[in-house]
Amino acid sequence: MTSETERRFRNDLLEWGRKNRREYSWREPDRTLYEVFVAEFFLTQTPADNVETVYSEFLGQFPSLDEIVEASEDELAEAIEPLGFQNMRASALKQIASSHDHLPTEPELLMELPRVGRYVANATLCFARGDRLPVLDRNVERVYSRVFRDTWPESEAEQFAFTERLVPDEARAYNLALLDFGALICQTEPLCEQCFANEYCIYFRELEE
Ligand code: SF4
Repeated sequence: MTSETERRFRNDLLEWGRKNRREYSWREPDRTLYEVFVAEFFLTQTPADNVETVYSEFLGQFPSLDEIVEASEDELAEAIEPLGFQNMRASALKQIASSHDHLPTEPELLMELPRVGRYVANATLCFARGDRLPVLDRNVERVYSRVFRDTWPESEAEQFAFTERLVPDEARAYNLALLDFGALICQTEPLCEQCFANEYCIYFRELEE
């Protein structure tokens, strides 16, 4: 069951997200599952601004899994060299393309692909298709663990259950807002004075006491 504070946070976050969304190429409307997957795959361990420098060119060169099958690992690695980990990433992409005509649309099946964890799987399906899935990385965990400090669970499984409950039907808008909020406001050094949640955030309340 969702608490009143949880409902309030969800609504406030959606409202904040409508005014403050960061624009990236992979967030453009009508991106395909493959295009969103490529972005999320690259964003693991790499800042968004770096990914932006290679993303469009990579998709121009490799617009689908078919072109990745045809490419050599060296060609793939060269295309993503500015991101780092290029050999590992090229090898994983090659394995994925060699074994799949299409990317799976079930999170559990996506997570079976090499170098694809729950975050990449859920983010890909949510941002490409609007699937109502929780997107939980270290930044999102920081936000939730502050706002809901008294009820935020310790185990990863329980944290996923907690976040799953909060994701509304507008899952894409909510999860994008959550990522942006963690990057722009509830940072490591949080900007609590500017934050919509400072009336009910437990972390902030404890700071004030
Ligand atoms: S009040 Fe501060 S700690 Fe709480 S959510 Fe806002 S920025 Fe984060």
